[in-house]
Amino acid sequence: MLDFSTLLTRAVPEAFRRASANDPHPPGLSLSGLGPCLRQAAFQAANTPYDPEHDDGGEKRSAWLGTAIHLWFLPILAEALSGYGEVVEVLVEDPITLTAASQQIPGRHDLYVRVRDTETGEEGGCIVDLKTVKEWALGKIVSYGPEEHQEWQVDGYALGRRQAGYPVTATAFIHMDRATGEDVITVRPFGQREAMAVIERVRLIYSHADQPLWAPTDLLGPDLDWRCRSCPFTRRCWPEITDGRSNHHAIDPAKRREIADAAAEYTAARTRETQAKADKQLAAAKLADAKSGSYKGPIGTFKIGRIPGKEIDDPEALSALLAEHDLTRPKKRSKESLTVTAITG
Ligand code: SF4
Repeated sequence: MLDFSTLLTRAVPEAFRRASANDPHPPGLSLSGLGPCLRQAAFQAANTPYDPEHDDGGEKRSAWLGTAIHLWFLPILAEALSGYGEVVEVLVEDPITLTAASQQIPGRHDLYVRVRDTETGEEGGCIVDLKTVKEWALGKIVSYGPEEHQEWQVDGYALGRRQAGYPVTATAFIHMDRATGEDVITVRPFGQREAMAVIERVRLIYSHADQPLWAPTDLLGPDLDWRCRSCPFTRRCWPEITDGRSNHHAIDPAKRREIADAAAEYTAARTRETQAKADKQLAAAKLADAKSGSYKGPIGTFKIGRIPGKEIDDPEALSALLAEHDLTRPKKRSKESLTVTAITG
């Protein structure tokens, strides 16, 4: 008698493994990697190869169920949205590139919907992100709202879409229970504050790209956090791991980690401080010939002003910095310094 039970018991996990093996995730940072772990993002920004033991071809059942729901639900949601009079455009799973902190970061958002007020003609747009979760996670969303790392991801899509010339005034999450279909919808405004936060996040990630291991993290390692267990850099990050188990706590008490974390934070802050000074000087040089007034761009509106005073730039350092970026030093403005004020989102 043919044993169909054995056949299917073997085939089901094999189907998940095949799906995963056909879906290699190349190294490198994408918009979905802006959170939750700064160190993991820094490894990706540095194009770090995955740990040799990392099993990217595992079953990843939960992720595949989430993908299946996306594939089924998003086109139907787009169809439903398109039926409303104020909706002028819906894009599903559209690729997007965010330019921030001199970096180009690719991504693919779930859904973008553009609306036009039928009376005033005013337009707005929203990036919608579907997150399939377990029941306990849905309860957490109800109590505390979306987590910050999820917000960075959608704000990255939103800014990328805005940079591509589309209006984006809001972002939305649809958190959906993977078992019951119950959902929680959260809509947030998207403006200058959110755009600046995502740019700062990108800058922070890349400031750690030359030493990703120094990037601070709140995650507690593969013994205590599933995200570390599925991370492709676990062994680099937690070199004490032996045979898949960490003896980190046996090697040293919590104090050791505390000191290492504080040292990493100190090093990271020093790197950011140096980078921020250079970035500010370069940006000021680019503004040296800008006339006073208001300027509107995809990130928001900024007021440029000049106040009498002594020019603070170090001329030699500034010339060297500009030469690095193939720029020439603009005409010197003596006895006045620059003011830049962010006005609106
Ligand atoms: S192992 Fe954990 S802490 Fe280390 S980079 Fe990966 S997710 Fe972050």
